[in-house]
Amino acid sequence: MSEPRIGLGYDRHRRAADRPLRLGGLTLAHENGLLGHSDADALLHAVIDAVLGAAGQDDLGTLFPDTDPRYAGADSTELARVAMDLVKRAGFRVLSLDAVLVIDRPKIAPHRAALRTSLSTLFELPVDRVNVKAKTTEGSGDPELVEVTAVALLGTRAH
Ligand code: MG
Repeated sequence: MSEPRIGLGYDRHRRAADRPLRLGGLTLAHENGLLGHSDADALLHAVIDAVLGAAGQDDLGTLFPDTDPRYAGADSTELARVAMDLVKRAGFRVLSLDAVLVIDRPKIAPHRAALRTSLSTLFELPVDRVNVKAKTTEGSGDPELVEVTAVALLGTRAH
């Protein structure tokens, strides 16, 4: 009987006026995006770190340093694919994912289904084992920041 592993990931990015908003591997229609060395997909970065952490692998920042020009503007879905290769080679599969975004705008509810589908494809698990939810800061935080916390449960792969 395999032992499940849990991983936690966190990321935050500041808004940037001149960039597309990338979240969960999708480009959401919005007037601004997020600042970062890569495409600044805070949702994917948090989920990738949760998955890597559960699998006992190096974290995102160690694998893909933001000082490395190769990752300037990087598509985070590519980083997710590399991370999943590592996770699978280590003998694991993703059993479930959950994430909470703290974001004032745009509203995430209209995008939830698409975000869940995108994550289920990238991390190779059924969509009903992926969840994404969002909170607004309600004046308690910095509306210029987008923060994401994610957890991943991994199990061993069948041989
Ligand atoms: Mg990031």
